[in-house]
Amino acid sequence: MAAGPDVVTEALADIHRRLGALDEGEPAAYIPELARARREGFGLALVSMDGHRYQAGDAAEPFTLQSVSKPFVYALALAELGLDEVGRWVGAEPSGEAFNAISLEQGTGRPSNAMINAGAIATTALVPGATPAERFERILAGLSAFAGRRLDVDAAVHASEAATGDRNRALAYLMRGAGSLACDPLAATDLYFRQCAVRATAADLAVMAATLGNGGVNPVTGERVVGERVAVQVLSVMATCGMYDASGEWLLRVGLPAKSGVSGGLIAVSPARFGAACWSPPLDRSGNPVRGTAALRELSERFGLHLMLSPAPAAPTVVAWPSAGTARRRGAFAVVAVQGALDFTAAERVLFELERGTAGPVLLDLGRVTRLDTVARVMITATLVRLAAGGRRVAVAGEVLPAPPDAPWERLGPDGDGPDRAGAEGAGPDRAWAEGAGPDRAGADGADADSAGPDTAR
Ligand code: GLN
Repeated sequence: MAAGPDVVTEALADIHRRLGALDEGEPAAYIPELARARREGFGLALVSMDGHRYQAGDAAEPFTLQSVSKPFVYALALAELGLDEVGRWVGAEPSGEAFNAISLEQGTGRPSNAMINAGAIATTALVPGATPAERFERILAGLSAFAGRRLDVDAAVHASEAATGDRNRALAYLMRGAGSLACDPLAATDLYFRQCAVRATAADLAVMAATLGNGGVNPVTGERVVGERVAVQVLSVMATCGMYDASGEWLLRVGLPAKSGVSGGLIAVSPARFGAACWSPPLDRSGNPVRGTAALRELSERFGLHLMLSPAPAAPTVVAWPSAGTARRRGAFAVVAVQGALDFTAAERVLFELERGTAGPVLLDLGRVTRLDTVARVMITATLVRLAAGGRRVAVAGEVLPAPPDAPWERLGPDGDGPDRAGAEGAGPDRAWAEGAGPDRAGADGADADSAGPDTAR
């Protein structure tokens, strides 16, 4: 056992400790019930794509989602109706204005985006259901699936907003008058007030954020909540519109899709890496939480999460490549061995190697490929077809790329059972890659047999 908390928990605790002293801003008071919030309440949480959970401070204290509900209900509407239909009712342009602005497009009356009140009300109005109760249940079930547990409504906050929410009703009536609201204004706003009053903790919010970052699959429960395309669409709008009129500055400094709410909640998503959340009620003049903004900015800097940073270099894609002099051969074939998850970038490396790195018969060994996305499959298949059409003899090993009956390539079994490797004792299919195949291994066919048993396979 190691002493003390792990590195991530310690980082959160450190940020929490230091920013606890930042006592600026005021909790929202225009919804009377929110003014009762504990101004010193402060929680932080982080969830990885593997569902690993970290937190600091009051991460288990419930508060109402308010505007943090907006991206998730937008996701549900997109999942039901698709971007074209949703886009008829709500735009995707930053408004550059406050969250409660009357920000409707000239001519159409369409609100600028789904992250401000007008756009969120228009979005909520799109959620299908035969009755108001059924529609709200759909929203609550959706939000709960994002969180990975059944959420509930804070009835006092709902009543408080319903009693004072005339500006939002006015927005709804304006939109209805302009033809840009899909249902009755009072029905739409009541549904919207309920969705804003759904209660969750910072720990829940981090799971919800992580679900968006994980392509719509909740990394804790494993449930697919929305499709990958929808998750990407929601993150895009969060990146440009999630922090109201501070969205540009936020993208510049923090560089993460995010969404704040007047109860002090704030989520930020580092796609394919983390979902993060903060809760602290005092707000700045844009209506964004003061501590949350500072905390997520620090997290992003500390962990290098800015969206525009190039991704961490992945493990090399091509691990045995003739052009580099690592002329591993298998029978008549020069071997191009590939590992890991293949996307566009990785597939480009592979095809470059196949096209320019080899002459004569070539074996593409995909035995260590963990994932072949559609783009990579198309690129590699087209390359093999091209080479075969040009008269090259091509072969493929590995299960990820099955050969259709008319495929112009030969299939070979897993590496290690080829005739030229007989005598490489004790070796499983993985051994050639277990230590990498550097230049020092050139020509030493079978010399890598010492390196690996099945346990080195990952
Ligand atoms: N329910 C709140 C409102 O409509 C949500 C606003 C917010 O969180 N920014 O005023």
